[in-house]
Amino acid sequence: MQSFHPPLRTLMGPGPSDVHERVLAAMARPTLGHLDPAFQGMMEEVKAGLKALFKTENRLTFPVSAPGSAGMETCFVNLIEEGDTVVVVKNGVFGERMRENVVRAGGTAILIDVEWGKAPDPAVVDATLTAHPEASILAFVHAETSTGVLADAAALCAVAQKHDCLTIMDAVTSVGGVPVLIDEWGVDAVYTGSQKCLSCTPGLSPVSFSERALERVRARTSPVNSWFLDLSLVMAYWDGAGGRSYHHTAPVNALYGLHESLVMLFEEGLEAAWGRHAAMHKSLAAGLEALGLKFLVAPESRLPQLNTVIVPEGVDEASIRAHLLKAHNLEIGAGLGPLAGKVWRIGLMGTSARPENVELCITALADAFNRHQHPVDGEKALAAARAAA
Ligand SMILES: *Cc1c(COP(=O)(O)O)cnc(C)c1O
Repeated sequence: MQSFHPPLRTLMGPGPSDVHERVLAAMARPTLGHLDPAFQGMMEEVKAGLKALFKTENRLTFPVSAPGSAGMETCFVNLIEEGDTVVVVKNGVFGERMRENVVRAGGTAILIDVEWGKAPDPAVVDATLTAHPEASILAFVHAETSTGVLADAAALCAVAQKHDCLTIMDAVTSVGGVPVLIDEWGVDAVYTGSQKCLSCTPGLSPVSFSERALERVRARTSPVNSWFLDLSLVMAYWDGAGGRSYHHTAPVNALYGLHESLVMLFEEGLEAAWGRHAAMHKSLAAGLEALGLKFLVAPESRLPQLNTVIVPEGVDEASIRAHLLKAHNLEIGAGLGPLAGKVWRIGLMGTSARPENVELCITALADAFNRHQHPVDGEKALAAARAAA
C-alpha cells in the first residue's frame, strides 16, 4: 500500500461540500485523550456553539459521533416506544427513511405522501393529525436534499402543537444555509450533519432536544432499542453533570474540525451566512437559466443550497457529470428515486457557496453541453450569473 492523495475536487453535489482548509488544519492538530480536561473545555464550547447555531437554549444539545443518519436514529429510537403512532411527512428520500425509523423503533407510521419537488401542505398535515388523534409525534424534513424543497417548518410545528404532538425535524441540509429557529418554532428534536452547510468533514451529527422531548424520554417504560444512541447513556459523557464517564471514545480530531467550523461561522455571522447562500443561489440560478435549464421546484419553496435542475431533452445526464468530474474536477449530484436520470442536484453548501464555485459550475456546464451536441453560450451565462451576484 501507499499513502492516499485524493484528487483536488470542487464539491457541488448534495454533500459532502467543500471543507474549508482551516477546518482541515484544525483536524490535523495533536490528538488529546477524550477525557483530557483541555478536550473537555473544547467540548463545552462545541455545545455552546451548537446551541447558538440551532438558536436554542436546549440544555441537551451535542454532536452524535456518527453521520447525519445516526442523528436521525437518535431522535427516533429515544422518542418512540412500541405502540406509538407517528405522522411522517414524506416528500423525498429522507422522509422515507424517517418512516423506516419509526417502524424499526416499534412505532406505527402514518405517511403523508407528497409529490417529489413539492413542499408539504400544513393544511393536509392538520387534517391528518385530526384524523389520527392517537398520533403523538409529527416528523418532517426541513430541507429535502433529494429534491431541493424547503418546508415551512414554522407552520408545520404550529400544526403539531395545536394537536399536542411533539416534532422531529431533519435539518441536515438546512442548518447554516437557511434560518433554523428551534426555540421560536418549538421543534422538540432536531438533527443536522457536519458535511453540508457547516463546511466540515462528514461523520458528526449535532442534535438538540427540548425539555418536552426529554420528559417523554424519561417517561419511557421500555429501554431504548439501541445501546450506542441511548441518550441517558451518551449524556453521562457529554454532560459535565453526568460525571464525564466513559461511554465511547469521542472522535477527537473530527470534533476539532466541527469546533473550527463553528468558529468560522460565528466570525462571519449566522445571518450573514444565510445571506451568502441566498446571494450565491441567485447568481447560480441566473447562470443556469441563461444556459436554458429549468428548476424542478417552484421559486417560493426552493432551497438556496440545493439547486435541482431538469436535464434537457436528448442530453445524457451521466455523461455530463462524468465530463464535469474528469475535465473540471467538479462534482455535482444525480437524481434519486423517481428523479434518477431526470435531474441534476447542484449544491451551494457552506464553503461551496462562493462566487468562484458558481462561475466554475456555469463555465464547466457550458463546456460539457457544447461537447455533447447541446450548444449553449457560456460567456452569456457567466455574465448573467455575475450580474445577479
Ligand atoms: C445528507 C442527509 C442525511 C443523512 O446524512 P448522512 O451524514 O449522509 O448520514 C439526512 N437527511 C438529509 C435531509 C440529508 O440531506
